[in-house]
Amino acid sequence: MFTKHQQHKNIFSCYTKFAMELSTTPDTYVPKMDTESKTYMDQYVFNFENGIVCPCTPMKTFYRRDSFHTHWKSARHRKWLAYLNENAHNYYRETQEQQTTIKTQQQLLTEMETQLKQKDVIIHYLESQLRLSSSLDMTGLD
Ligand SMILES: [Zn+2]
Repeated sequence: MFTKHQQHKNIFSCYTKFAMELSTTPDTYVPKMDTESKTYMDQYVFNFENGIVCPCTPMKTFYRRDSFHTHWKSARHRKWLAYLNENAHNYYRETQEQQTTIKTQQQLLTEMETQLKQKDVIIHYLESQLRLSSSLDMTGLD
């Protein structure tokens, strides 16, 4: 068994390890989407402090801007950008379709809520009628 002091030490060293791992995790590069032409383009990376990983070459971390810019010119990177662009239109269409579905579902939900409220009102009315008639029955017995 660990003593309390040892336990605290362990937790602290775990935390330090975790914090160090977090701070050394490289950022993932994302090309920017040009909204007018709807195509992906390379975009300037400001911070190389944690290193940057390009999804086209996940095994490599770039720490210097010039080597990353050289990477942009590589066949592998160009091919990856071209692939993104070939599919960009499909992604865009999918998003549009999903938005339409969400809108329809929201309308349905509102409609159902309204129906539910109306039924509540009807139930309340029927209940009050029931109470009224049963109290009339009671007075009728006298
Ligand atoms: Zn790349």
